[in-house]
Amino acid sequence: MEASVTPSRNQHTLAVSCEVHGRGYWTGKQVQVAIHPASIGTGLRFIRTDMAEPNHCQASIEFREDASLRTNLLNGEVRLQMVEHLMAALAALEIDNCIIEIDGEEFPALDGSSLRYVEAMSDAGLIIQAAEKRRLVIQETMRIERGSSWVELSPALHGESYFEYRLSFDDQIPIKSQTFGLNLTPDRFIREVAAARTFVTEQQAASIRAQGVAAHVTNQDLLVIGDDGPIENTYRFNDECARHKTLDLIGDLALSGVEFIGRATSFRGGHSLNGEVAEYLKELAVAEINQIAPSINVPKSVPHLRKAM
Ligand SMILES: [Zn+2]
Repeated sequence: MEASVTPSRNQHTLAVSCEVHGRGYWTGKQVQVAIHPASIGTGLRFIRTDMAEPNHCQASIEFREDASLRTNLLNGEVRLQMVEHLMAALAALEIDNCIIEIDGEEFPALDGSSLRYVEAMSDAGLIIQAAEKRRLVIQETMRIERGSSWVELSPALHGESYFEYRLSFDDQIPIKSQTFGLNLTPDRFIREVAAARTFVTEQQAASIRAQGVAAHVTNQDLLVIGDDGPIENTYRFNDECARHKTLDLIGDLALSGVEFIGRATSFRGGHSLNGEVAEYLKELAVAEINQIAPSINVPKSVPHLRKAM
């Protein structure tokens, strides 16, 4: 048996609505995000208020649309860009049911981190709901590989939900190798991860600007890293890059829709590999819930999968 699905803590929603606004990195459009309380079983539901119905998309991995450097969702005509920093904040604060209204396609960049979402939702407060969240308990070590990147899922030693990122770039990229990991709790996320910002190298920034996008984004809106560290900016943590990659991992895996009990370690992984892992977690959960024989060692939707040595 590779995993089991068991009831866990009670579900939560927000006590009152909260709002966050700002401009998207890619589109540059000013958007307003309103996060509202919702009843048991709603899950996390996005609504594009700038569109006519049908204008909704569930925050679920089945709607993931492949995009570079961010996580997008697409349901019919309803596209949402860069959902991962909000998803990480929702997962870390254990918010299971809410309606997220946005009057545009792309979530605001803010300072490149989850901090503003966490502040807004912490101020709003939580309500405990009379239903249990399902959790997926990993029982065997699995590794999902793609090229030189991999994500390993292994059993928790003490029932923890552990996320780790091992950052290791090639020599020409001026970011030193670094590892960050944590047992995810709301408090630890707020203190150690929420403020870690998005980063790009100077070269990546130049190539993105050459495509004619993100012209409004300044060196203060994220970390642009040159040979001597962040350009016109300073790190909030010495290992801020690994912390941000951990944030992305938490946000992307949350699209599986289950609470993850186990250890997820990523070596050089990005949004695309995270997406495959989230899909795999969802398949494992569905197989367990439906009591399908656990013979899905190599699910079709997860290429390059093999058991870890
Ligand atoms: Zn990110």
